[in-house]
Amino acid sequence: MRSDTGASAGGRPPARRPYRRPSPLDRLVLQTLREAGRPLSAYAITRRSVASGAPLSPTQAYRVLDRLVARGEVQRIALLAAYLPARADRPGVLVCRRCRAVTAVTVAALAPAIEQIRQATGFVVARAHVELPGLRARCRHGRGAARASACSP
Ligand SMILES: [Zn+2]
Repeated sequence: MRSDTGASAGGRPPARRPYRRPSPLDRLVLQTLREAGRPLSAYAITRRSVASGAPLSPTQAYRVLDRLVARGEVQRIALLAAYLPARADRPGVLVCRRCRAVTAVTVAALAPAIEQIRQATGFVVARAHVELPGLRARCRHGRGAARASACSP
């Protein structure tokens, strides 16, 4: 990996970095989401940050989450108003309406559909994200827990 130390051989300014290093707050929020293993709201992240001794205000949490979503590192689950670490290889999110469990899945049919959209409209999709609400098997049969989690369908 190349590192810019300031001056380059030709005396020109260093090339602009395409990617900004994550701030300590970004890392804290990402770590909190990874450790939770389930979607968390911005307020839940705030509460956990207080408990961990590195308190974030809700405004800070939202700002960090906006940045992480813009960079594709975190995805917002609109159905739950909560956030998960993003999985680029799994753009589909199954959301159980009963227990709020979330499962990230691959959606093989998505790539051809996106290509079809591009050909028909010229619109280039930057990132795919599909939320599919429903009931996972154990909740269809009345065995689901009544809290959000990330687990298998
Ligand atoms: Zn469920």
